[in-house]
Amino acid sequence: MPDHSFWFYLFAFLGIIPSRYFLIAGGIYWACYTAGGQALSKTLLEKTIVGKNALGKTIVREFFVSRSLRRSPPSPQSIQKDVELSLLSAVIFAFAAAAIMVAYDQGLTRLYTDLDRDGLGYLGASFGLVLLLQDAYFYIVHRLFHRPLLFRWVHRGHHRSGDPTPWTSFAFDPAEAIAQALFFVGIVFVMPLHFIALIAVLMTMSVWSVWNHLGFELFPAAFARHWFSKWLIGPTHHSIHHRKYTVHYGLYFTFWDKLFGTQDAQYENEFDGALQPSRGEVLQRD
Ligand SMILES: [Zn+2]
Ligand SMILES: [Zn+2]
Repeated sequence: MPDHSFWFYLFAFLGIIPSRYFLIAGGIYWACYTAGGQALSKTLLEKTIVGKNALGKTIVREFFVSRSLRRSPPSPQSIQKDVELSLLSAVIFAFAAAAIMVAYDQGLTRLYTDLDRDGLGYLGASFGLVLLLQDAYFYIVHRLFHRPLLFRWVHRGHHRSGDPTPWTSFAFDPAEAIAQALFFVGIVFVMPLHFIALIAVLMTMSVWSVWNHLGFELFPAAFARHWFSKWLIGPTHHSIHHRKYTVHYGLYFTFWDKLFGTQDAQYENEFDGALQPSRGEVLQRD
């Protein structure tokens, strides 16, 4: 691909990254939180194959009726705050992405474009490995950011909305956005990565983060106990983090929380219910 200036890349990413946010977070918010979106997505789901079998019907019913994780509807003010912080994060990620592209043009990164160079096996393996590394990095950084000295400056913004919505998925204080972006700036210099693998990681991060902040639980209770899905973080798992602050610091997988003792012992039981505030959870706010 032809070389471009830093400012060209910055301008391009300032268009791409916020658009991605509004498309994914905004689209999912519309589908889950507005009457028109709920009605349309319910009809669409029911008319497709999903609505024609027992599991699909269960999912649709639980998704739209009985499994809200919220204590109250989101306020327009909290959504506005989340969008403002997310746009700031998008600017920081755009700077990081532009810097990566300039470094790539100068042959300084280990990014590559030739699929035959390392093969499809490596493409898949590198995608998985970056997810694992990012998850470990996120766990460490996130746990540090909850230290009292740091929280106020670097992580308070993400928790400002209380119960999250999809709009919260990219809402980071600038210092946290820099820390998150630095992972990508670092990884492209140390690990050979095809652009497809890098883009796949970024898309996975965007969608999974919206998923974690959905505010609804989509899956039946078996999800938290199933031999495979118990290792995956989802809306209930991350909602508990937004309520309790002292557990569930991971991004994609539960094993760091389990290994370091920050997995909520009540997670499986909480998954069974709708996380009502009457359960007596202690809210820890700064
Ligand atoms: Zn947090
Ligand atoms: Zn969160």
